[in-house]
Amino acid sequence: MGQAKLKLAIQKSGRLHDDSMRLLKECGIDVTNGVNKLKSEASNFPLEVFFLRDDDIPQYVEDAVADIGFVGENVVYEKKKKIDVTEKLGFGKCRLSIAVSKGENYTGPGFLNNKRIATSYPVLVEDFLKANNVKAEIHEISGSVEIAPGIGLAEAICDLVSSGSTLFMNGLHEVETILQSQAVLIKNQQLGEEQQAILNKLLFRIQAVKKAKNTKYVLLNAPNEKLEEIISLLPGMKSPTVLPLAEKGWSSVHSVLSESEFWDIIEKLKAAGAQGILVVPIEKMII
Ligand code: ATP
Ligand code: ZN
Repeated sequence: MGQAKLKLAIQKSGRLHDDSMRLLKECGIDVTNGVNKLKSEASNFPLEVFFLRDDDIPQYVEDAVADIGFVGENVVYEKKKKIDVTEKLGFGKCRLSIAVSKGENYTGPGFLNNKRIATSYPVLVEDFLKANNVKAEIHEISGSVEIAPGIGLAEAICDLVSSGSTLFMNGLHEVETILQSQAVLIKNQQLGEEQQAILNKLLFRIQAVKKAKNTKYVLLNAPNEKLEEIISLLPGMKSPTVLPLAEKGWSSVHSVLSESEFWDIIEKLKAAGAQGILVVPIEKMII
């Protein structure tokens, strides 16, 4: 391969910046993050990183200024650019929700008829209103949407929520979720062959990091007469590793468990006689 490089756009600063940089690091890609720099080159991977406002990333990827980008689904579906969504990245999780004043008795989307909705997501709100046959007035504002009802600008808002504390502090309550969102990898639809090959390498690493995050490595000691029962509880990638301990009649069992089944299985292992259970994080997982 020649000097081909893949151009990646990430958020310059804000909620997605640190997690985007962390993901690259976990993929073994070294990128320096100079203050006020527009772009940076990875020292050990054919990647060039552009630092941009998140709202601009879909356009840059459509125009092939960047080949790929890390950006929230909320921005992707609001901007409706001609790009492909390739991979969910597992960070930047939030939801786009409608909220109204705490005192209001919200009975369904019909409540919004003839009301004013303040939002930074006019396209997604319009889609929601259409799908529910509701006619409301959309007021597009670029920030601090949650104060709109308090100052008499709107009766409802539609904004990103994660914990809900901002809504609560502004006397609002969440009544409808119109989109669940997380950061995704988007790509240009006419990626060159060399860029696609680099992207495949990057995706391979991202998938290994994601799999590892959802998985734990478990080590435990088991009396030999209980081995069969304990092994039957462990899914493992193939089958668990069993090693004899120095103490006679005991073995050490090693396996991998997914985060979701973790607590359930640990309890059963203890009940079956497992001792000294160690649970350790996995850094990368290639299967
Ligand atoms: P920029 O200056 O790049 O335009 P911004 O102010 O639009 O930044 P941030 O508030 O940094 O954006 O949010 C970036 C993205 O982080 C959002 O588009 C969304 O995908 C995600 N996100 C995750 N949780 C939240 C949350 N609680 N509130 C807002 N955004 C969130
Ligand atoms: Zn933005």
